[in-house]
Parts: sequence; structure tokens; C-alpha cells
Amino acid sequence: MLCPQCRQSLVIVECDHVELDVCFDGHGIWFDADELRQLFELAGAAGNGSGLEARFAHLPAHAGPKRRCPRCRARMRHVEAPGSSEQVILDECPRGHGLWFDDGELHEVLSSELDEGDEVLVTIKRYLGSFCEPRKEETPDG
Ligand SMILES: [Zn+2]
Ligand SMILES: [Zn+2]
Repeated sequence: MLCPQCRQSLVIVECDHVELDVCFDGHGIWFDADELRQLFELAGAAGNGSGLEARFAHLPAHAGPKRRCPRCRARMRHVEAPGSSEQVILDECPRGHGLWFDDGELHEVLSSELDEGDEVLVTIKRYLGSFCEPRKEETPDG
């Protein structure tokens, strides 16, 4: 599968039995259908996962460049998800293959659902490592 942004191959990271595909250059992370829910299940909060997806709002078709689904290459549609500070626009395959989170978006969405320091958030962050951290400015080494 290819990164919707830079088209290089996504790298598979496995968190227990959930396989996620991430861009090596940190553009984002792909969740196959159901993997978001599985991740919450692993973290011991199955209810949060399904509750979260129920709150996604599909946006009307829009002009401009669209990203393509890494699985089927269909143009993805935008869905609006609640974020901790503002709404986050995610890309979703119209055929239901999954969801693409840009760098930093996963953190926004998770922190709107869970309190900072919540055990579930801590667990998910541990699974996902830096892919679940807030977007950071480049800092010099050291
Ligand atoms: Zn990329
Ligand atoms: Zn697809």
C-alpha cells in the first residue's frame, strides 16, 4: 500500500494483533476498517472506539485534490471528527476500506475522546509510539 500523500510504501507496525500501516516519513497512519475499534478494545475501552466512529460526520463532496485509498485507489472522501481543539478532517475510503489520519490528527481525535493521562490514551500511545504524539516543530538535535 502507498502513502496517500507521498506515494511511498507504507510500513506495517504491529500492535499486538492489530496491524497498522504508517508512512515512514511520518505523513500519517492508515487504519483498516475496524482497526480503530480493535485498538480501543486492546486498550480496554471498546465502547470508546465505536462511540468515536459514530460521531464522525461525512462531508459533502468537495473540489480540489483528493487522496486515494491505499487499498483500492478510490478517491477518499472527507469525514469530520471531533478534535481536542478544533474539528479534524480525516480521509475515508468510500468503499469502507478504512481511514487515513494525517500526522497529529490521531492525537487530536483521541484527546477529544479521552482525558490526557487516561489509562486508555496512555496504552494507545504506547502501542503507536510517536505516531500518536502531537505534531511537533522540527527541533535541532540535542
Ligand atoms: Zn508519506
Ligand atoms: Zn478503498
